[in-house]
Amino acid sequence: MPKGMRYSTLEERREYYEKEFPLKKVAEWFEGRENTVFTMIPGRHTGIVLPEYKDIINNTVVVDDYEDLEGLREYIIQYLPEGVYYDRNLYSDIEACSKCGMEPGDCWNCKYFLGQELAFDLDPENVVCPYHGNIEKKMEKHQGLSFCMYEFKTVRRKTLELHEELSREYTEFRFVYSGRGFHIHVLDREAIKTGKKEREKIAEKWAKKYPIDPWVTSGEMRLIRLPYSLHAMVSRICVPLNLEKIKSFDPRKDRKCFPSFLKV
Ligand SMILES: [Zn+2]
Ligand SMILES: [Zn+2]
Repeated sequence: MPKGMRYSTLEERREYYEKEFPLKKVAEWFEGRENTVFTMIPGRHTGIVLPEYKDIINNTVVVDDYEDLEGLREYIIQYLPEGVYYDRNLYSDIEACSKCGMEPGDCWNCKYFLGQELAFDLDPENVVCPYHGNIEKKMEKHQGLSFCMYEFKTVRRKTLELHEELSREYTEFRFVYSGRGFHIHVLDREAIKTGKKEREKIAEKWAKKYPIDPWVTSGEMRLIRLPYSLHAMVSRICVPLNLEKIKSFDPRKDRKCFPSFLKV
């Protein structure tokens, strides 16, 4: 892993969510969006979990009954998860949809489903590296989730290139440093309304050229890391960035993505 990136302890997770997690900025991220479902993963990759949640360490905990973002924060502090995500689906009614009886992949046929943010997840592990090989090679060596700066810089460049290509078709973008690579969110109305088949085509097309995770773009994986949450595998804050910032962004140095427990 790049220098300084490491797992966060439970105490560090607590400190971050109690003292720093910026609810106002999270609220800004979701402005104009209602009925968002959140999820948490207690300790699947780090193996670090509160004793009372040992049995659900690998599970995805769904949070859909929070009052407001302060309520979401309370859930996070209760579980101290290694990762927090949100569901990119837009729902007219979460409660009704939770009882709709559809399989997770059938959202497009549910009458409470309004669409899904189109997203591109560019990950360093999907970069073929001259030092560490391709993803299969890395998995073999149990390096599947670690990455190096060669891979990071490639992903950073590819994020900018992919945006340039996408901007011929869409106009409303947001960029996020995910703790590993970058996410591009496309919020144009037509992007959100894109159907399942069309998304599969989009995913297939761009996965050939860019290190994207096709499951995210196709909508099969509809969760995406929550901006301003702590990525506890690397001890970095997942932060929105503007395009100009991405060009030189370095997660080893940029304080914007440092939780205060690292800033001693
Ligand atoms: Zn439904
Ligand atoms: Zn590498």
